[in-house]
Amino acid sequence: MIAEIKTLSSYKYCEKTLQNMIPCVGIGLHGGQKVNMVLKPAEVGTGIVFIRTDVLDKDNVIPASYQNVVDTRLNSCIGNKDGVTVSTIEHLMSAFAGFGITNVRVEVDGPEVPVMDGSASDFVTLIECAGVVSQNAPLRVVKILKEVNFEDGKGASVSLYPDQNGLSLDFMIDFSKSRAIGRQEYSIVLSERSYKDSVSYARTFGFAQEVEMLRSMGLAKGGSLENAVVVDGDRVLNKEGLRSENEFVVHKTLDAIGDLYQVGMPIIGHFSGVKSGHAHTNELLRRLMADKTAYEIVNLDDYEEALLMRSRKSA
Ligand SMILES: [Zn+2]
Repeated sequence: MIAEIKTLSSYKYCEKTLQNMIPCVGIGLHGGQKVNMVLKPAEVGTGIVFIRTDVLDKDNVIPASYQNVVDTRLNSCIGNKDGVTVSTIEHLMSAFAGFGITNVRVEVDGPEVPVMDGSASDFVTLIECAGVVSQNAPLRVVKILKEVNFEDGKGASVSLYPDQNGLSLDFMIDFSKSRAIGRQEYSIVLSERSYKDSVSYARTFGFAQEVEMLRSMGLAKGGSLENAVVVDGDRVLNKEGLRSENEFVVHKTLDAIGDLYQVGMPIIGHFSGVKSGHAHTNELLRRLMADKTAYEIVNLDDYEEALLMRSRKSA
């Protein structure tokens, strides 16, 4: 008997990493400094890990976990016990989630992930250039078993519901003070294709008055019309205009995909966001993981097999 040659993975759903390492250079949104970033392949079980190569005298490794989120006011910022932080990880995390990449070392030589054009498009290009490889380990996922919610009492809410068909999301925003944005709704079933074609392009956005205020606080130094949609009252200030009519709500969905991925593995369930931001999604993940009856961690191959068995029985 000839032994089966395992060129790829013996699992249908498996852990994934990059085929090659890939470097890029950009600027930090808040500090405005140049940042060199290198995405490196990593072994099974690594997860997504950020490494501050400019920090030599302290622990410079920060796993991308909801438990390590230390600031959500403007972006998702993670830190470790030595106080070493990396900001604005959400768009890169979103691209990893979109491609189902589970293991990567992200090296940065500064405190922020480069903002690029404010969307995840450049990260998608980097991932595609590096290539994605299957690893010989079964993909584990967080399967939502019951509804979990968080409402902030100010009109924003986030929820996770059971849904056996992968991760789907819906999002609603309502900026009645600006007709340029207004009320927008969006929903999507996440797949590599849907992420790349329908989500990754959407840029971050802000209001002109807020940008002024942030600058006076020493923030958003790297922010410009090159890496954000800037809205002034009812007008979009970017000369090129919007990439789609609903770019704002699509970007909020992009953010949610990245923030949810901080749970450490893909989620099987439905996410619903209403006027929510990074802090809400982080609180939702904390509530989810604090309630052992709200989720289970399953091997996706086994789970799909069980679903098939059940449907055959009932047929
Ligand atoms: Zn964003």
